[in-house]
Amino acid sequence: MTAPKNDKTRSRHKADTRLRRLPERGSKDFDLACAIIDDARIGHVGFTLDGQPYVVPMAVARDGRSLLLHGSVVSRLMKNLAGGLPCCVTITHLDGLVLARSAFHSSMNYRSVMVFGSASPVSDPDEKLRGLDVLTDHLLPGRRAELRASTRKELNATTLLRLPIEQFSVKSRNAPPDDPANERSVPVWAGVIPLALTAGKPEAAPDMPAGIALPRYLHSP
Ligand SMILES: Cc1cc2nc3c(=O)[nH]c(=O)nc-3n(C[C@H](O)[C@H](O)[C@H](O)COP(=O)(O)OP(=O)(O)OC[C@H]3O[C@@H](n4cnc5c(N)ncnc54)[C@H](O)[C@@H]3O)c2cc1C
Repeated sequence: MTAPKNDKTRSRHKADTRLRRLPERGSKDFDLACAIIDDARIGHVGFTLDGQPYVVPMAVARDGRSLLLHGSVVSRLMKNLAGGLPCCVTITHLDGLVLARSAFHSSMNYRSVMVFGSASPVSDPDEKLRGLDVLTDHLLPGRRAELRASTRKELNATTLLRLPIEQFSVKSRNAPPDDPANERSVPVWAGVIPLALTAGKPEAAPDMPAGIALPRYLHSP
């Protein structure tokens, strides 16, 4: 199935972004949503085709008030999203395991954003080039300037999509365990195990010519 290509379809869908479960963990703050998005390199893109839900991990970057997604022009996902199929992009950072005195009250510290809507293909060649550069530099700041220009063939083989960050919700938790008062004296370790995604030591490609220095943007801070 391919989604119909018209703007009425794009604008008709209105997602339910009102948090009912633990709404105190929610926010509608655009800047907070942007900060969570900017910390991420991947998002999970959810959509339904012929009644079957799919959730596909993809590279993401923010460009102003939009999310950018890219992929092969022949992929089912890109063709359907470009045609206006409604989607939901979820971005999640797992910041810690929250170990309570019981399994029931154990939790996670996290930051997550869900962006709903319909994406549009970026067809203007200059805008597409710029958007793809934004994606490349978001994944590794400083990298784009060092790489050769993309060829026309490469650009033609790639779809770039823009999803407005208009319908969105934020949810986060950043706190110690919240055990009921009558369980706090139980002799079991309780607390938070912080978790973070960190880069490892760069591993040079085995076929790289000798004498190429590690670029500055790959030096650890
Ligand atoms: C790392 C992580 C682990 C989690 N583990 C669990 C788990 O094991 N079990 C569990 O029940 N829940 C878990 N959650 C919370 C889960 O994401 C949902 O918030 C929760 O299950 C309530 O879902 P609901 O559809 O009933 O919420 P509702 O409050 O009915 O959702 C309504 C709307 O709120 C917004 N929303 C809901 N959840 C989120 C979110 N996480 N981020 C941004 N917007 C949101 C969406 O716009 C949604 O349409 C976890 C969250 C994270 C980030």
